[in-house]
Amino acid sequence: MKKFIVLLLGVLSIIYLLNPGAGLFEFIPDHLPLIGNLDEALAMALLLVCLQHFGIKMPEIFRRKQDRTKAGIKSCLTTFKEGSVTATAKQRFSNELPSALKNLAQLTAALQDRQLVVFLDFDGTLTPIVDRPELAEISSDMRESVRRLGQCCTLAIVSGRDLVDVRAKVGIDEVFYAGSHGFHIAGPAGFGHELQQGSQYLPALDKAERALLRQLRSIAGAQVERKKFAVAIHFRRVAKEQVAALTAVVDGVLADSEGLRKTGGKMIFELRPDIDWDKGKALNWLLEKLQLDKRSVLPLYIGDDLTDEDAFRELQQHGFGILVRDEVRPSLARYALESVDEVQTFLKRLATQFE
Ligand SMILES: [Mg+2]
Repeated sequence: MKKFIVLLLGVLSIIYLLNPGAGLFEFIPDHLPLIGNLDEALAMALLLVCLQHFGIKMPEIFRRKQDRTKAGIKSCLTTFKEGSVTATAKQRFSNELPSALKNLAQLTAALQDRQLVVFLDFDGTLTPIVDRPELAEISSDMRESVRRLGQCCTLAIVSGRDLVDVRAKVGIDEVFYAGSHGFHIAGPAGFGHELQQGSQYLPALDKAERALLRQLRSIAGAQVERKKFAVAIHFRRVAKEQVAALTAVVDGVLADSEGLRKTGGKMIFELRPDIDWDKGKALNWLLEKLQLDKRSVLPLYIGDDLTDEDAFRELQQHGFGILVRDEVRPSLARYALESVDEVQTFLKRLATQFE
């Protein structure tokens, strides 16, 4: 009975706040100075008390959200703004994602009679992130794990690196490669397709590269890396107080460019063609060219970066996104792995299931 009365009071306060009579049922008319909105305030207070009775404490909801966000808020506000990812309701915080290793049985059970297709990011997934990207090396053990899994299923390496660069680093001929965040895709001999998305933007990228090389010369540690379909600006080795100046240079060059956009990642900015293309679209393109229907295969994507979120989004319905987590941030992945070492263990165990 008590609950019913509280519920009734709550509903009445909502009706009063919404004021369906267009002011006809106002106890205190809104136009009266100072006390005009006192009745609405009282109705709101009554509503909060009613909600509290049912265990919904409004200030606590805000406080909890604030605490959870604290660690990840920086990346939400900065990198997400610059990255290509838009927030959706399906995101979860990376520290809340279950372990892919612990749930391997569940993951392989989902395969049923579907064919497994594995997509792997490179930096931060197959190799630890290093200060100088050109020095990143895949361990021979990891290379062997990738090769072994590639013999059991269709496997593609999807990287922000240039296609030629990532292919040389991985050094396995039998797998597919998507470089420059999927703008450049090629397969092993006999695949018969090659995608070069955004070729018309090459002159704009050339111009931006020249300007960045010239203008960033004075910022110690700034590194400009030209990829075929992007210009990357690495600032991992730039002093903190110089990052704002570097950002201003990048923004200035972007403003002078035509048809490019800026994206962000881990201590990196990138200028790339401003077209609707990303790792998720690359994943779909590859599946289509391989004549694999997303519903009849089980695509699995392992990656650590913001740009991998585009692929995780594509797999929300028919596949699994696995985040290699190193910070608290929102993610569209379904599972997580803790480190490059865990990725290797996961790939090994996955291959064992098929051999
Ligand atoms: Mg990565």
